[in-house]
Amino acid sequence: MKHIKIKELLQSKEFGKEFIIKGWVRTLRGNKNVSFIAINDGSIINNVQVVVDIPVFGEEYLKNVTTGACVKVRGILVRSQGQGQTVEVQAKEIFVYGSCDPETYPLQKKSHTLEYLRTIAHLRPRTNTFSAVLRIRHNMAFAIHKYFNDKGFFYLHTPIITASDCEGAGEMFRVSTLDINNLPKTQDGQIDFTQDFFGKETNLTVSGQLEGELGAMALSEVYTFGPTFRAENSNTPRHLAEFWMIEPEMAFYDLEDNMNLAQDFVQYLIKYALENCKDDLEFLNKMYDKELISRLGFVVNNDFERLTYTQAVDILIKSGEKFEFPISWGTDLQSEHERYLVEKHFKKPVILIDYPKEIKAFYMKQNPDGKTVRAMDVLFPKIGEIIGGSQREEDLQKLVNRINELKLPSKDIWWYLETRKFGTAPHSGFGLGFERLILFVTGMANIRDVIPFPRTPKNAEF
Ligand code: ATP
Ligand code: MN
Repeated sequence: MKHIKIKELLQSKEFGKEFIIKGWVRTLRGNKNVSFIAINDGSIINNVQVVVDIPVFGEEYLKNVTTGACVKVRGILVRSQGQGQTVEVQAKEIFVYGSCDPETYPLQKKSHTLEYLRTIAHLRPRTNTFSAVLRIRHNMAFAIHKYFNDKGFFYLHTPIITASDCEGAGEMFRVSTLDINNLPKTQDGQIDFTQDFFGKETNLTVSGQLEGELGAMALSEVYTFGPTFRAENSNTPRHLAEFWMIEPEMAFYDLEDNMNLAQDFVQYLIKYALENCKDDLEFLNKMYDKELISRLGFVVNNDFERLTYTQAVDILIKSGEKFEFPISWGTDLQSEHERYLVEKHFKKPVILIDYPKEIKAFYMKQNPDGKTVRAMDVLFPKIGEIIGGSQREEDLQKLVNRINELKLPSKDIWWYLETRKFGTAPHSGFGLGFERLILFVTGMANIRDVIPFPRTPKNAEF
């Protein structure tokens, strides 16, 4: 007999029928006559209760059925007498796949801090909180592909290893097979990278955008969804050294089209979560964030506020608020400024556009004012920046001038520049940080708690 997932079993109405379930023991209680074992297999946040008639089996039989043990149960589905559940399983046979020492099992106690759970990331998926987060994460990844596929976008696999250093100079992880204890040198004493695996310096990608643009210049609408890496030493609740990013890139989109897509996309994803992750969201709403579900509903149902960077700076200066980082035109917005705009001033998500060119990347389309570029950042409550994007500069000469002004190594991206030479087109795109989205959807406060195995400075365990 094939076993049934607990999610399916809990919906079954086939009372009196025999089923097999497999999972891990969450809790045990009972007395001399009867034992109640709560079992979870991760398919759903709820456990199924297994009822064991002690006199039938003898006390010895349950000796190895302890919290954390992995078991197979064969039993009859019956209507539940107890509160809070509609069905339960009357055990006929219990087989223990893996016993679990109650003295040393780290998840023995009922509630643990999130900080402690990070130290046991190998076991935390067995908690309600992390299984809920991981199921939501899966659903969001699926919904992302569904959204783009339904719209006719193509999933473009951009490379993880790159040799262009234009975007994130100084923040990249080097990829090399050279022996670091015995580096080959050139005649003038520099490291000889021609002897390295790729014959040149290579790094892990910080973004798939540049290659995404190449795809858009042929397939019109593409997206990439993959891991990205940043060696920035920022120990914040919103930064990881390894995170996942969704980057759509579209030919024939101006900044307005780009903003419309960004809003529609994020609202779709949140609506998808509300419709498909109800149990898990209700759990997180109850345990961590009483406003979570109403906040998600609000974002789905309200347009994002759109204004320029210049207007935003005006609002911040006039606010009279004491910020840790003072604000003036030309400085980059800090998270405290972004959150003031979103949470206190507009009380809804905000899209800021037309940033000073000095604080944005070289490829952004230059505005006629000579000072600003067609950038857009989408700012969210509790998160700050969730999306960064722009219309791209499609004019070869303007792009080259900007690259020269910034003294960027343009020979590394000759292929990027050729798209502007051969059939250039207006185009736009953006990057959504996947973990920032999951932070928002789950209401969790720390980005380390929305990815299975976080990578942060001084931490690469598991
Ligand atoms: P921030 O200012 O928050 O550090 P950024 O401006 O450096 O972000 P972009 O280069 O615009 O980020 O990247 C696009 C998106 O990727 C961001 O809007 C954010 O959602 C996400 N992101 C950027 N850096 C990180 C990181 N270190 N960890 C997790 N997500 C990130
Ligand atoms: Mn950004």
